[in-house]
Amino acid sequence: MKFIGAHVSVAGGVEEAPINAHTIGADAFALFTKNQRQWFCKPLTEENINQFKANCAKFDLKPEYILPHDSYLINLGHPEEEGLAKSRKSFLEEMKRCEQLGLKLLNFHPGGTLGKISVEECLDRVAESINMALDKTEGVTAVIENTAGQGNNVGFAFWHLKRIIDGVEDKSRVGVCLDTCHTYTAGYDLVNDYDGVFGEFDEVVGFDYLRAMHLNDSKKELASRVDRHDSIGKGYIGFDFFARLMKDPRFDDMPLILETVEETLWPEEIAWLREQSLTIDK
Ligand SMILES: [Zn+2]
Ligand SMILES: [Zn+2]
Repeated sequence: MKFIGAHVSVAGGVEEAPINAHTIGADAFALFTKNQRQWFCKPLTEENINQFKANCAKFDLKPEYILPHDSYLINLGHPEEEGLAKSRKSFLEEMKRCEQLGLKLLNFHPGGTLGKISVEECLDRVAESINMALDKTEGVTAVIENTAGQGNNVGFAFWHLKRIIDGVEDKSRVGVCLDTCHTYTAGYDLVNDYDGVFGEFDEVVGFDYLRAMHLNDSKKELASRVDRHDSIGKGYIGFDFFARLMKDPRFDDMPLILETVEETLWPEEIAWLREQSLTIDK
């Protein structure tokens, strides 16, 4: 079965997220557990935590289908000691917040070289950062998101994801989230070579590591290396790809999350995606 949702707002507290998800007809959702533009923040209160769990239970939103996203400031492959230490501390705080909320996954962008170290060195730093966070937490899986490869960001090629995973000691708590927009603009032609791209992903990384998907169309062309999401069917990827993905059992039982630009379309997009997953091709 497909579990579909969007990255919803936490204005008013994390406990608002499940309500917002339910309102748009979602049975999965993503959220920031803290302000995504700050390094650190005040701890969650007992009240936040209890209310979050109660709201999730009320609307039957299960931790397996909730995909928190970390702060945009964090760079787990940072080339410099100070930036790396700060990133690792902030990431650990995020992992702990997930633990407190009873969540199982934490989605993050691997990081970037800032033009100061090699891609390989950066990827190995990311792996070491994950090891440090997993050592100090329990039950939360680090979910690496593939990137569009803008600027000096790593994580755009499947082998990057694989190299990070290879460096992680506890393989049971590392996984991958593929963002369809990022995959496409990184140069993988989802439109004309669906089987080829996912075949390559399976060969290089393995579907066993796939924990989640971000469903976004793209405002930019194939291999443009630019990250600009579009609403489903409105960009270069198009409806046919998403219809096919919704029928593909390899994407069952994981959060499928919209990060599309027009929030008012989310109910419609979710309903359309769900319909695709339920209709049988003739
Ligand atoms: Zn994404
Ligand atoms: Zn993106």
